[in-house]
Amino acid sequence: MRTILTLIATLLCLPALAQEGVEQPPVPQSRPAGLEDVAPVEAIRPAWTIVDRSAGLLVPMPRQRPGEAPETAAVPAVEEEASPEAETPDAPKPAPDAHIAAPEVPVPPRVYQVACPAVLQGKVEARMLPPVADGQCGAQSPLEVSAVLANGRMVPLSGGITTDCGMATALPEWVAAVDSYLMGRENTQIAELIVGTSYMCRRVNSASEGNLSFHAFADALDVTGFRLEDGRTITVEGDWAEAQSAGGRLLRYAHGAACSHFTTVLGPEANAQHHDHFHVDLGCHGKICTARLCE
Ligand SMILES: [Zn+2]
Repeated sequence: MRTILTLIATLLCLPALAQEGVEQPPVPQSRPAGLEDVAPVEAIRPAWTIVDRSAGLLVPMPRQRPGEAPETAAVPAVEEEASPEAETPDAPKPAPDAHIAAPEVPVPPRVYQVACPAVLQGKVEARMLPPVADGQCGAQSPLEVSAVLANGRMVPLSGGITTDCGMATALPEWVAAVDSYLMGRENTQIAELIVGTSYMCRRVNSASEGNLSFHAFADALDVTGFRLEDGRTITVEGDWAEAQSAGGRLLRYAHGAACSHFTTVLGPEANAQHHDHFHVDLGCHGKICTARLCE
């Protein structure tokens, strides 16, 4: 009985519910006052310019940057074709625009890979040099290295060397190995690395013909000896021959250690040209550049 009464009451109330809009679409309400200030959609669209009314093509105009004067002549002017009568074969052509004319002086090559990890990490004291371009010789991003990090301190070179990032990376590791040897066996350290030729535009062994030396690419260094903190100076020329002397042992250790850090090491045993220095470089040996030349 109660169920029947409830059903009747519900049927009687249906028109009223419909009028209250339960199933009706919401009536549009006026927007809050703040939203009236929002720019209409059209105002934030890019400006469109009809460049070909017949085809109806639309091209978006570039947006104006802050502080930039608005472009008044946004539509590029269409150049009128010169009439055939006005152009004669001998008529001088207008000078090319200065902004696109080829420069008379060649633009120097871009310096690639200016960042060298050894420099960033403080393993060498170095400054960037401008690119070297000397015929077939040259270096894109040479550095002038004046000191290398070894066992927590900077070891100065006897003179600044012009070299590349690869050599600047390998050199401190080698100097540190020699320095550790001296600390362990001689109770001293390297006060200065005595260097010879670094970059030089020449052929192998300074011959008149043949392959260019890696010195010609700032990828090689000649080291002539070590000045030690105990006052001694050990040189390849003066101390190599006495193999059992302290200097001879140091030089042989240095030569062997260099073979772990460079791909080419040439000393007095290699040939007469190297009787007074170690030549070290990072040249490619073997099919995949993993072979080493250690003489
Ligand atoms: Zn050399």
